[in-house]
Amino acid sequence: MIVSLIKYSYDGLVSHLNKDDKIILFACNTCIKFCDIGGRVRTRHLAEKLKSDGYNVIREESVGAACLLDQIEKKKADEATAKAFEDASVIIPLVCEDGLDNIKRVFPNAKAISVIKTIGLGIFSTEKGMVLTMPFEFTGLERNIDGYSLDDVAEKVGCYTGPYFDGNKVQE
Ligand code: SF4
Repeated sequence: MIVSLIKYSYDGLVSHLNKDDKIILFACNTCIKFCDIGGRVRTRHLAEKLKSDGYNVIREESVGAACLLDQIEKKKADEATAKAFEDASVIIPLVCEDGLDNIKRVFPNAKAISVIKTIGLGIFSTEKGMVLTMPFEFTGLERNIDGYSLDDVAEKVGCYTGPYFDGNKVQE
């Protein structure tokens, strides 16, 4: 699976937002969910926090795999979602960097904030959660069959682990 971290704290995220932005949270439901970032529940928690802080979240959306371009294009074409994406001024993509490229391509008129740092490939288990086994070169880490914990890697590369908002682990 693709392994990702968060670039900004919550305060860092909102420093990129204005109160009059029309915001869509757009999550992937696969690898990044197992990194404690994407998925519907975490997206809902972040949306609730943003709304309670006065930000205008107009929609929460998710797809099975944001790296599949047709899944993103479907959101643009579907009657149920097209209007919200037309209206949105900001998209917060809770997807890996591949997914972010697709969102930027399909919705060029909204500002897609790059909040995620993708760091390599990893393995998920119920005992250890997600671990990083094949780090990207920029991390300065070697391959490790046992895997690096995401907390350790986040500290090394100056990022944060999920979930975005409150740090509590959530179940889906
Ligand atoms: S968009 Fe990224 S996180 Fe989502 S399924 Fe594809 S590779 Fe995994």
